[in-house]
Amino acid sequence: MAVAFHSAFNTFTYHMTLLIRDSIESIAGVPESMGYIFSFVVGAAIGSFLNVVIHRVPNEKSIVFPNSACPKCGTAIRPYDNIPLVSWILLGGKCRSCKAPISARYPAVELLTALMFVLMYWHFGFGAFLPIAFIFTAAMIALIFIDAEHMILPNVITYPLLGFAVLLRIVFPSFFAGVYLSDINSWPFGQLSTMPLWLLLLIGALLGAIVGGGFLWLVGEAWKRLRGVEAMGLGDVKMMAAVGSLLGWRLTLLSIFMGAFSGALIGVALIARQKDRDFQMQVPFGIFLGIGSIIALVFGDQLIGWYLSTFM
Ligand SMILES: [Zn+2]
Repeated sequence: MAVAFHSAFNTFTYHMTLLIRDSIESIAGVPESMGYIFSFVVGAAIGSFLNVVIHRVPNEKSIVFPNSACPKCGTAIRPYDNIPLVSWILLGGKCRSCKAPISARYPAVELLTALMFVLMYWHFGFGAFLPIAFIFTAAMIALIFIDAEHMILPNVITYPLLGFAVLLRIVFPSFFAGVYLSDINSWPFGQLSTMPLWLLLLIGALLGAIVGGGFLWLVGEAWKRLRGVEAMGLGDVKMMAAVGSLLGWRLTLLSIFMGAFSGALIGVALIARQKDRDFQMQVPFGIFLGIGSIIALVFGDQLIGWYLSTFM
Protein backbone atom coordinates (compact mmCIF):
# COMPACT_ATOMS: atom_id res chain seq x y z
CA MET A 1 0.00 0.00 0.00
CA ALA A 2 2.71 2.39 1.02
CA VAL A 3 4.75 1.52 -2.03
CA ALA A 4 1.76 1.88 -4.34
CA PHE A 5 0.98 5.25 -2.83
CA HIS A 6 4.49 6.49 -3.33
CA SER A 7 4.97 5.28 -6.86
CA ALA A 8 1.59 6.67 -7.93
CA PHE A 9 2.40 9.92 -6.20
CA ASN A 10 5.87 10.07 -7.72
CA THR A 11 4.60 9.36 -11.19
CA PHE A 12 2.02 12.09 -10.76
CA THR A 13 4.47 14.70 -9.46
CA TYR A 14 7.06 13.70 -12.03
CA HIS A 15 4.65 14.29 -14.89
CA MET A 16 3.34 17.47 -13.29
CA THR A 17 6.87 18.79 -13.09
CA LEU A 18 7.65 17.87 -16.68
CA LEU A 19 4.42 19.49 -17.80
CA ILE A 20 5.14 22.70 -15.91
CA ARG A 21 8.75 22.77 -17.05
CA ASP A 22 7.79 22.19 -20.67
CA SER A 23 5.12 24.88 -20.57
CA ILE A 24 7.48 27.38 -18.95
CA GLU A 25 10.06 26.57 -21.61
CA SER A 26 7.61 26.81 -24.48
CA ILE A 27 6.19 30.09 -23.17
CA ALA A 28 9.61 31.60 -22.67
CA GLY A 29 10.96 29.79 -25.72
CA VAL A 30 14.24 29.11 -23.93
CA PRO A 31 16.58 26.63 -25.51
CA GLU A 32 18.96 24.80 -23.16
CA SER A 33 21.98 26.95 -23.89
CA MET A 34 19.99 30.04 -22.93
CA GLY A 35 19.25 28.41 -19.58
CA TYR A 36 22.97 28.13 -18.86
CA ILE A 37 23.61 31.75 -19.81
CA PHE A 38 20.60 32.85 -17.75
CA SER A 39 21.85 30.90 -14.71
CA PHE A 40 25.36 32.30 -15.07
CA VAL A 41 24.16 35.91 -15.32
CA VAL A 42 21.71 35.55 -12.42
CA GLY A 43 24.46 33.86 -10.39
CA ALA A 44 26.95 36.66 -11.04
CA ALA A 45 24.36 39.26 -10.01
CA ILE A 46 23.42 37.34 -6.85
CA GLY A 47 27.14 36.91 -6.17
CA SER A 48 27.51 40.68 -6.31
CA PHE A 49 24.75 40.97 -3.70
CA LEU A 50 26.43 38.25 -1.60
CA ASN A 51 29.59 40.39 -1.56
CA VAL A 52 27.58 43.09 0.18
CA VAL A 53 26.10 40.53 2.60
CA ILE A 54 29.53 39.02 3.36
CA HIS A 55 31.02 42.46 3.91
CA ARG A 56 28.24 44.04 5.97
CA VAL A 57 26.28 41.37 7.86
CA PRO A 58 29.13 40.45 10.29
CA ASN A 59 29.50 44.15 11.12
CA GLU A 60 25.74 44.46 11.66
CA LYS A 61 25.36 47.03 8.92
CA SER A 62 22.33 47.40 6.67
CA ILE A 63 22.64 45.49 3.41
CA VAL A 64 20.43 48.03 1.64
CA PHE A 65 21.82 51.45 2.65
CA PRO A 66 24.09 53.19 1.90
CA ASN A 67 25.26 52.28 -1.60
CA SER A 68 28.64 50.64 -1.94
CA ALA A 69 31.65 52.91 -1.62
CA CYS A 70 35.41 52.47 -1.91
CA PRO A 71 36.62 51.53 1.61
CA LYS A 72 39.81 53.56 1.00
CA CYS A 73 38.64 56.92 -0.38
CA GLY A 74 34.90 56.69 0.32
CA THR A 75 33.87 57.52 -3.24
CA ALA A 76 30.48 56.00 -4.07
CA ILE A 77 30.76 53.23 -6.64
CA ARG A 78 28.97 54.16 -9.83
CA PRO A 79 26.45 51.74 -11.38
CA TYR A 80 28.67 51.20 -14.43
CA ASP A 81 31.56 50.28 -12.13
CA ASN A 82 29.37 47.79 -10.30
CA ILE A 83 28.73 45.26 -13.07
CA PRO A 84 29.49 41.78 -11.72
CA LEU A 85 32.84 40.36 -12.93
CA VAL A 86 33.07 42.82 -15.86
CA SER A 87 33.80 45.98 -13.86
CA TRP A 88 36.55 44.45 -11.76
CA ILE A 89 38.32 43.29 -14.92
CA LEU A 90 37.85 46.62 -16.74
CA LEU A 91 39.11 48.56 -13.72
CA GLY A 92 42.11 46.25 -13.42
CA GLY A 93 41.12 45.49 -9.83
CA LYS A 94 41.58 49.12 -8.74
CA CYS A 95 39.28 51.90 -7.51
CA ARG A 96 38.53 54.38 -10.32
CA SER A 97 39.19 57.41 -8.06
CA CYS A 98 42.09 56.51 -5.76
CA LYS A 99 43.51 53.42 -7.52
CA ALA A 100 43.45 51.47 -4.25
CA PRO A 101 43.35 47.72 -5.02
CA ILE A 102 39.92 46.05 -4.82
CA SER A 103 40.06 42.61 -3.24
CA ALA A 104 39.95 39.71 -5.70
CA ARG A 105 37.41 38.16 -3.34
CA TYR A 106 34.68 40.26 -5.00
CA PRO A 107 34.98 38.81 -8.52
CA ALA A 108 35.80 35.40 -6.99
CA VAL A 109 32.47 35.29 -5.12
CA GLU A 110 30.64 36.45 -8.24
CA LEU A 111 32.30 33.81 -10.43
CA LEU A 112 31.79 31.05 -7.85
CA THR A 113 28.09 31.89 -7.45
CA ALA A 114 27.65 32.04 -11.24
CA LEU A 115 29.27 28.62 -11.67
CA MET A 116 27.25 27.10 -8.82
CA PHE A 117 24.02 28.40 -10.38
CA VAL A 118 25.06 26.82 -13.69
CA LEU A 119 25.62 23.55 -11.80
CA MET A 120 22.12 23.82 -10.28
CA TYR A 121 20.58 24.43 -13.70
CA TRP A 122 22.50 21.48 -15.13
CA HIS A 123 21.14 19.22 -12.39
CA PHE A 124 17.62 20.51 -11.75
CA GLY A 125 16.74 22.04 -15.12
CA PHE A 126 14.38 24.92 -15.69
CA GLY A 127 11.74 23.96 -13.14
CA ALA A 128 10.06 24.86 -9.91
CA PHE A 129 12.94 23.73 -7.74
CA LEU A 130 15.57 25.85 -9.51
CA PRO A 131 14.90 29.10 -7.56
CA ILE A 132 14.97 27.10 -4.32
CA ALA A 133 18.32 25.56 -5.25
CA PHE A 134 19.58 29.07 -6.07
CA ILE A 135 18.48 30.47 -2.68
CA PHE A 136 19.98 27.53 -0.80
CA THR A 137 23.29 27.78 -2.66
CA ALA A 138 23.47 31.56 -2.18
CA ALA A 139 22.92 31.15 1.58
CA MET A 140 25.66 28.49 1.75
CA ILE A 141 28.14 30.70 -0.15
CA ALA A 142 27.44 33.65 2.17
CA LEU A 143 27.93 31.43 5.25
CA ILE A 144 31.14 29.89 3.85
CA PHE A 145 32.79 33.26 3.25
CA ILE A 146 31.59 34.89 6.47
CA ASP A 147 32.80 31.91 8.51
CA ALA A 148 36.17 31.98 6.71
CA GLU A 149 36.73 35.63 7.58
CA HIS A 150 34.96 36.14 10.91
CA MET A 151 34.53 32.63 12.36
CA ILE A 152 30.81 33.21 12.79
CA LEU A 153 27.65 31.95 11.13
CA PRO A 154 25.23 34.84 11.68
CA ASN A 155 21.71 34.19 12.97
CA VAL A 156 20.35 36.67 10.43
CA ILE A 157 21.19 34.08 7.78
CA THR A 158 20.66 30.75 9.58
CA TYR A 159 17.27 31.59 11.15
CA PRO A 160 15.57 32.85 7.95
CA LEU A 161 17.00 29.84 6.11
CA LEU A 162 15.45 27.56 8.72
CA GLY A 163 12.10 29.37 8.42
CA PHE A 164 12.26 29.25 4.63
CA ALA A 165 13.02 25.52 4.69
CA VAL A 166 10.15 24.63 7.03
CA LEU A 167 7.66 26.79 5.10
CA LEU A 168 8.83 25.31 1.85
CA ARG A 169 8.36 21.80 3.19
CA ILE A 170 4.75 22.53 4.07
CA VAL A 171 3.76 24.30 0.84
CA PHE A 172 5.97 23.07 -2.02
CA PRO A 173 5.59 19.26 -1.68
CA SER A 174 1.89 19.31 -2.46
CA PHE A 175 3.02 19.87 -6.03
CA PHE A 176 6.58 18.66 -6.43
CA ALA A 177 7.87 16.74 -3.40
CA GLY A 178 8.51 13.30 -4.80
CA VAL A 179 10.89 14.56 -7.40
CA TYR A 180 13.14 16.77 -5.32
CA LEU A 181 12.80 15.90 -1.64
CA SER A 182 14.09 12.38 -1.73
CA ASP A 183 13.88 11.65 1.98
CA ILE A 184 10.15 10.90 1.80
CA ASN A 185 10.94 7.81 -0.25
CA SER A 186 13.05 6.41 2.57
CA TRP A 187 12.71 5.38 6.20
CA PRO A 188 10.57 6.15 8.18
CA PHE A 189 8.13 7.63 5.70
CA GLY A 190 7.02 4.36 4.09
CA GLN A 191 5.30 3.55 7.41
CA LEU A 192 3.65 6.97 7.67
CA SER A 193 2.25 7.36 4.18
CA THR A 194 -1.39 7.50 5.31
CA MET A 195 -0.69 10.93 6.82
CA PRO A 196 -1.41 14.09 4.83
CA LEU A 197 1.56 14.97 2.70
CA TRP A 198 2.27 18.36 4.27
CA LEU A 199 2.44 16.73 7.71
CA LEU A 200 4.69 13.99 6.37
CA LEU A 201 7.10 16.57 5.03
CA LEU A 202 6.92 18.72 8.12
CA ILE A 203 8.01 15.63 10.06
CA GLY A 204 10.74 15.23 7.44
CA ALA A 205 11.90 18.78 8.12
CA LEU A 206 11.93 18.25 11.89
CA LEU A 207 13.77 14.98 11.55
CA GLY A 208 16.34 16.64 9.29
CA ALA A 209 16.76 19.54 11.70
CA ILE A 210 17.22 17.20 14.65
CA VAL A 211 19.67 14.98 12.79
CA GLY A 212 21.64 17.92 11.38
CA GLY A 213 21.66 20.21 14.40
CA GLY A 214 21.63 17.45 17.02
CA PHE A 215 24.55 15.57 15.56
CA LEU A 216 26.78 18.63 15.56
CA TRP A 217 25.63 19.62 19.03
CA LEU A 218 26.56 16.17 20.35
CA VAL A 219 29.98 16.27 18.69
CA GLY A 220 30.58 19.74 20.14
CA GLU A 221 29.52 18.63 23.62
CA ALA A 222 31.65 15.49 23.49
CA TRP A 223 34.67 17.50 22.38
CA LYS A 224 34.10 20.03 25.15
CA ARG A 225 33.98 17.27 27.80
CA LEU A 226 37.03 15.49 26.42
CA ARG A 227 39.31 18.38 25.62
CA GLY A 228 37.83 21.17 27.71
CA VAL A 229 37.67 23.52 24.73
CA GLU A 230 34.79 24.91 22.77
CA ALA A 231 35.32 23.32 19.36
CA MET A 232 32.04 23.95 17.72
CA GLY A 233 29.90 27.06 17.92
CA LEU A 234 26.14 27.04 18.07
CA GLY A 235 26.26 28.66 14.63
CA ASP A 236 27.22 25.31 13.10
CA VAL A 237 24.32 23.65 14.93
CA LYS A 238 21.80 26.23 13.65
CA MET A 239 23.23 26.08 10.14
CA MET A 240 22.84 22.31 9.93
CA ALA A 241 19.37 22.43 11.48
CA ALA A 242 18.40 24.71 8.58
CA VAL A 243 20.14 22.51 6.01
CA GLY A 244 18.46 19.45 7.57
CA SER A 245 14.99 20.94 7.30
CA LEU A 246 15.43 21.50 3.60
CA LEU A 247 17.51 18.50 2.49
CA GLY A 248 16.07 15.90 4.89
CA TRP A 249 18.02 13.64 7.23
CA ARG A 250 19.82 11.45 4.67
CA LEU A 251 21.39 14.22 2.60
CA THR A 252 22.17 16.17 5.78
CA LEU A 253 24.10 13.30 7.34
CA LEU A 254 25.98 13.01 4.07
CA SER A 255 26.74 16.77 4.16
CA ILE A 256 28.16 16.46 7.67
CA PHE A 257 30.27 13.43 6.78
CA MET A 258 31.65 15.11 3.67
CA GLY A 259 32.24 18.31 5.64
CA ALA A 260 33.95 16.47 8.50
CA PHE A 261 36.09 14.43 6.14
CA SER A 262 37.34 17.36 4.05
CA GLY A 263 37.67 19.52 7.18
CA ALA A 264 39.69 16.84 8.94
CA LEU A 265 42.00 16.38 5.94
CA ILE A 266 42.72 20.09 5.73
CA GLY A 267 42.94 20.42 9.52
CA VAL A 268 45.52 17.64 9.72
CA ALA A 269 47.51 19.21 6.90
CA LEU A 270 47.53 22.56 8.70
CA ILE A 271 48.48 21.03 12.06
CA ALA A 272 51.24 18.95 10.44
CA ARG A 273 52.79 22.15 9.09
CA GLN A 274 52.58 23.77 12.52
CA LYS A 275 55.78 23.68 14.60
CA ASP A 276 54.08 24.21 17.95
CA ARG A 277 52.41 20.93 18.93
CA ASP A 278 50.26 22.43 21.69
CA PHE A 279 48.80 24.82 19.23
CA GLN A 280 45.00 24.88 19.52
CA MET A 281 43.39 25.72 16.28
CA GLN A 282 39.84 26.76 15.71
CA VAL A 283 38.73 25.57 12.33
CA PRO A 284 35.86 27.47 10.69
CA PHE A 285 33.91 24.26 10.21
CA GLY A 286 31.03 26.11 8.52
CA ILE A 287 33.15 26.31 5.36
CA PHE A 288 33.29 22.53 5.05
CA LEU A 289 29.66 22.05 6.08
CA GLY A 290 28.62 24.56 3.41
CA ILE A 291 30.64 22.82 0.70
CA GLY A 292 29.32 19.42 1.85
CA SER A 293 25.73 20.71 1.75
CA ILE A 294 26.02 22.01 -1.82
CA ILE A 295 27.54 18.71 -2.98
CA ALA A 296 24.80 16.77 -1.15
CA LEU A 297 22.07 18.86 -2.79
CA VAL A 298 23.32 18.02 -6.28
CA PHE A 299 25.01 14.63 -6.00
CA GLY A 300 23.70 13.30 -2.66
CA ASP A 301 21.08 10.89 -3.93
CA GLN A 302 23.46 9.35 -6.45
CA LEU A 303 26.20 9.08 -3.80
CA ILE A 304 23.86 7.40 -1.31
CA GLY A 305 22.52 5.08 -4.02
CA TRP A 306 26.05 4.13 -5.03
CA TYR A 307 27.08 3.56 -1.41
CA LEU A 308 24.07 1.38 -0.62
CA SER A 309 24.44 -0.73 -3.75
CA THR A 310 28.17 -1.21 -3.15
CA PHE A 311 28.39 -1.84 0.55
CA MET A 312 24.97 -3.06 1.69
ZN1 LIG B 1 38.94 54.63 -3.78
